[in-house]
Amino acid sequence: MATTNGAVENGQPDRKAPALPRPVRNLEVQFTKIFINNEWNESKSGKKFATYNPSTLEKICEVEEGDKPDVDKAVEAAQAAFQRGSPWRRLDAPSRGRLLQQLADLVERDRAVLATLETMDTGKPFLHAFFIDLEGCIKTLRYFAGWADKIQGRTIPTDDNVVCFTRHEPIGVCGAITPWNFPLLMLVWKLAPALCCGNTVVLKPAEQTPLTALYLGSLIKEVGFPPGVVNIVPGFGPTVGAAISSHPQINKIAFTGSTEVGKLVKEAASHSNLKRVTLELGGKNPCIVCADADLSLAVECAHQGVFFNQGQCCTAASRVFVEEQIYEEFVRQSVEYAKKRPVGDPFDVRTEQGPQIDQKQFDKILDLIESGKKEGAKLECGGSAMEDRGLFIKPTVFSEVTDTMRIAKEEIFGPVQPILKFKNIEEVIKRANSLEYGLTAAVFTKNLDKALKLASALESGTVWINCYNAIYAQAPFGGFKMSGNGRELGEYALAEYTEVKTVTIKLDDKDP
Ligand code: NAP
Ligand code: MG
Repeated sequence: MATTNGAVENGQPDRKAPALPRPVRNLEVQFTKIFINNEWNESKSGKKFATYNPSTLEKICEVEEGDKPDVDKAVEAAQAAFQRGSPWRRLDAPSRGRLLQQLADLVERDRAVLATLETMDTGKPFLHAFFIDLEGCIKTLRYFAGWADKIQGRTIPTDDNVVCFTRHEPIGVCGAITPWNFPLLMLVWKLAPALCCGNTVVLKPAEQTPLTALYLGSLIKEVGFPPGVVNIVPGFGPTVGAAISSHPQINKIAFTGSTEVGKLVKEAASHSNLKRVTLELGGKNPCIVCADADLSLAVECAHQGVFFNQGQCCTAASRVFVEEQIYEEFVRQSVEYAKKRPVGDPFDVRTEQGPQIDQKQFDKILDLIESGKKEGAKLECGGSAMEDRGLFIKPTVFSEVTDTMRIAKEEIFGPVQPILKFKNIEEVIKRANSLEYGLTAAVFTKNLDKALKLASALESGTVWINCYNAIYAQAPFGGFKMSGNGRELGEYALAEYTEVKTVTIKLDDKDP
């Protein structure tokens, strides 16, 4: 993980390293209202809700609480902005791309503000927010900006004397519902392709983390997107989220979150207007370490793969399968890493791990840790909350984990590394594929044949070989099986935000 390393070693700043970015001190939250038609609105119900800093448990501010009537208003604005002849529909494709590039410029300009807000709202280390989340947002916006004027149909040879061609048209109003683990990044993954294809959008950020989404609203206005093209309604899942997924005038929905809620979203979509649905859901991702792997690389990647973002990643390496010959050494080195992992104030440059997002997630993780102890896994380190420290959990490693234990089957979404043992490749393929999830998998080996065999056999949307969390704006991301439908990022994402129209022109058979 390209983060604080390089610049801070043993707690001592490296004087030769370039200056580290700094958070914005005493940042006052400016944008807390519902963003519709490039204006800031109060909620129709008059209600607000609080957002908290999970690291201090203090209230940051109150945010307007949207509900169905606010969603209706946002959809109306998005529909009007999508009308034929509207400023947005008349904008040519290169100009759409330019607006997205300019949005990326403003995100870059305000990167420290956005990273500070993200750290306040999520508790993730500031340098991670700055170098990973914000980097990803900027690159994704720029990547899709480049696509805006390259979305092309085809000319198709047919049986008859016709000219047949396709047009790739925008779908209309697109809804997006996003989670709290990468609040701005998950939103940009949906916003950027939607806008580059010419759609309009209604977004709902997670209740725990609405602040960066709302700040982005201010940048969208500043850049000059026409009113109604982007609308942001903060609020809760069963109200705002359900209103979006069941709205008959929303033609597509993109969701990232739990498999459980993903099912509800799909159900609501099919019961309303059969809107197109892309889902990016959970994972229980196998990380397979063969005996011939570069051991220190595998240990470090598996460690970062599971502990990064406090373990709150859909891609978390939460089932590490290690070949028996190197099992003990792998566990020993992994425990060393986990014990050294700096946990604490996310604004401290040395910190690699902050608090969990909220009490509910914290309790769920501790319950799973207890289940691991009870079901006979060997607790190597951690295994409890940090003393007197709110929502912080000690980096935890379990060895001697077997497939039937809860920690080997359920998504933990916390700083817990379950390490399992395997004997041969056929066996590990079967075990890795045995769950209903299929988001990512990783393989560590120096043997090319083995790597390619595993890459083809593993049932997951992504397979990383000798690396982890290597996610690029250019490469598609999504899940097999119950980890989701459709793909985000890359050229593949464009198909999720366009309708294909076939135009057929009958030609006169007579000579002209
Ligand atoms: P979640 O409920 O699935 O939240 C994701 C988004 O869906 C949030 O914006 C949420 O709104 C919204 N939502 C909730 N109920 C809805 C409904 N009935 N209709 C439409 N939208 C709805 O996830 P969570 O409760 O925050 O976390 C629970 C578990 O989900 C985690 O432990 C983890 O296993 C998994 N998770 C996965 C990812 C991922 O990246 N794949 C991300 C987060 C969580 P509110 O925030 O207002 O509830
Ligand atoms: Mg919060």
